[in-house]
Amino acid sequence: MTTTLPTPTPIFDTPADVERAVAGARKASARWQQMGFEKRRGLLDAWRADLAKNADRIAETLSEEMGKPHSDAMFEIVMALEHLAWAAKNAEKVLGRRRVATSALTSNLRATVEYLPYGVVGVIGPWNYPVFTPMGSVAFALAAGNSVVFKPSEWTPRTGQALIASFHRATGEFDIAQCITGGGDVGAALCRSGVDKIGFTGSTATGKRILAACAENLTPALLECGGKDALVVDADADVAAAADAAVWGAMSNAGQTCLAVERVYIHEAVAEEFTEHVLEAARALRAADDGSTQIGRMTMPRQVEIVRSHISDALSRGGQALLGGLGSIDGQVVQPVVLTDVPEDSAAVTEETFGPTMTIRAVADMDEAVRLTNASEYALGLTVCSKRNGRAIADRITSGNVSINGYVMHAAVPTLPLGGVKQSGFGRVHGADGLREFAYARACTETLVNAPIPLTSFKRGPKVDELIGRVVKEVHGRAGAIRQLLGKA
Ligand code: NAD
Repeated sequence: MTTTLPTPTPIFDTPADVERAVAGARKASARWQQMGFEKRRGLLDAWRADLAKNADRIAETLSEEMGKPHSDAMFEIVMALEHLAWAAKNAEKVLGRRRVATSALTSNLRATVEYLPYGVVGVIGPWNYPVFTPMGSVAFALAAGNSVVFKPSEWTPRTGQALIASFHRATGEFDIAQCITGGGDVGAALCRSGVDKIGFTGSTATGKRILAACAENLTPALLECGGKDALVVDADADVAAAADAAVWGAMSNAGQTCLAVERVYIHEAVAEEFTEHVLEAARALRAADDGSTQIGRMTMPRQVEIVRSHISDALSRGGQALLGGLGSIDGQVVQPVVLTDVPEDSAAVTEETFGPTMTIRAVADMDEAVRLTNASEYALGLTVCSKRNGRAIADRITSGNVSINGYVMHAAVPTLPLGGVKQSGFGRVHGADGLREFAYARACTETLVNAPIPLTSFKRGPKVDELIGRVVKEVHGRAGAIRQLLGKA
C-alpha cells in the first residue's frame, strides 16, 4: 500500500497563529513527558518509518522548493533518518537518571543527575538543507521529551509541513509537533512566544536578532550559524583525494552549505598538481535547473547577487579566475568558479559566499595555513588533508568540527556533535551533546545517614570549624606538594 502525502499549499501563518500553536504544544507537553523514553521511542520509530516510506515524495517537494537534484535530496533525508534513529534509541541512556560519585565530605549522600525536558521548543530552520538541519533540533528536542513548534524557512515551507504531517500521520499526535510557516516576523514571534528554548539554524546576522529577541524572556537559544570553512592541504597529502574533497565540498548543493569548502590553503609544493585536479573535476560539472545535472540552481536570487559581488570584488583586487567568473552566472544557475590570488581581506575570503565558488591560495608551510585559517571570524567546520600531520594541523585550528582526510564526514556520524564557535554560533545538535542541548541538568541528593561533619547547620560548633580548617590545610593545601612528590607538577 502506498501512502499518499498531503501536499498543502503554503499559506503563511501570522504571529497570532504562533500563539495558538505554542499554547497547543504547551498543553500536549506534559503528556509527551509522561509517556517516558520507551513509549516516545516507539512513536519516533514509527515517524522514521513513515518518513522513509515517503522519502521520495518529500525529496520531490524539497527539490522543487530549493532546487537541489533529487538524489541529493534523498541523501539529505537518509542522513536525517540516521540521526533520528540514534536520538530515539539513545535518549534514555544519555538523559535518564544516573548515580554519580560523591566526595569524602559528602559520602553520606546518594547523588543522582538527570536531564529533564524544557517543555516547548521552538525550532527555526533554513532552506539550504530543509530536512537535515531542522531535524537536528526537531528530532533531538522530541526525543528529549519536549513538544516542538517548527518554523521552516519561507523558501521551503512545504518541506517543513511534509515533515510534521508525517509525524502526525505516524503517531496520531497533532499538538506535540506542529509546523507554522512564514518569514522573519513569524520567527521573531516564535522567539517571543514564551517557548522554553529556541533551536535556530540560519545566518549569523539572523542569529544575532534571535538572541536579542530571546534575551527579553531569558529564553535559552541554540545558534547554528554561518561558516567560511577552509580545506588545508599539506605537502604529503593524497593530492587527488584532496582535490576531489575540495570540488565536492565547494560545489555540491550549488555551494549553499554551511560547511562548504569556501577557502583552500595548499602547500606550495603540491599546489600546481592540486589545482590541475580541481580544474579537471570542476570543468566536468554543469549546473542546470532541470534535475539532469549534479548541481541545481541557487535557491535565492538575493544570494546570487552576493556571489556576483564577491567574484567581482575578488577580480577587481587582483584575483584570477582559473575557472569561470562573472560570466558563470545566468539567472539563478551558476557554473563552478575557481579563484586564486584573492587578497585575504576581500569578501570572497572573509564573508560567507554560499555559492559554487572556491578560492585557492598556495602557502609556504602549514604555519601559514593555520594562521590564515584562524584569521576568519567564523569557525564552523574544517577539512585537513595530510598523511602524517593531519591531527597535529587540526589541533592548531579553531573549529567546531573537523574531518581529516575526508570531507564533512563528522556530520554523518550519529554519535558526534555538530556546531560552531566564534561567529558560527554555539550549542550543539546530534549525538549525546545534541540530546543534552534540549534538556536541563537536574542534580539531586538523598541523605542516607546523618553527615559525619554537619556543614549546613547552626549546630556546627567551634570543634567542627577547627576540623574544617585542618581538612582545608591537610587535603587541599598539600595538593601541590603531593603532585611535586609524584613528579607531576
Ligand atoms: P536566514 O538567517 O536568512 O533564515 C533562517 C531562518 O530564520 C528562516 O526560517 C527565517 O525565516 C528566520 N528568520 C529570519 N529573520 C528572523 C528574525 N528576525 N527572527 C526569527 N527568525 C527569523 O538563513 P537562511 O538563508 O535560511 O540559511 C542560510 C544560512 O544558514 C547560511 O548562513 C548557512 O551557513 C546557515 N546554516 C548553518 C548551519 C549550521 O549547522 N551551522 C546549517 C545550515 C545553514
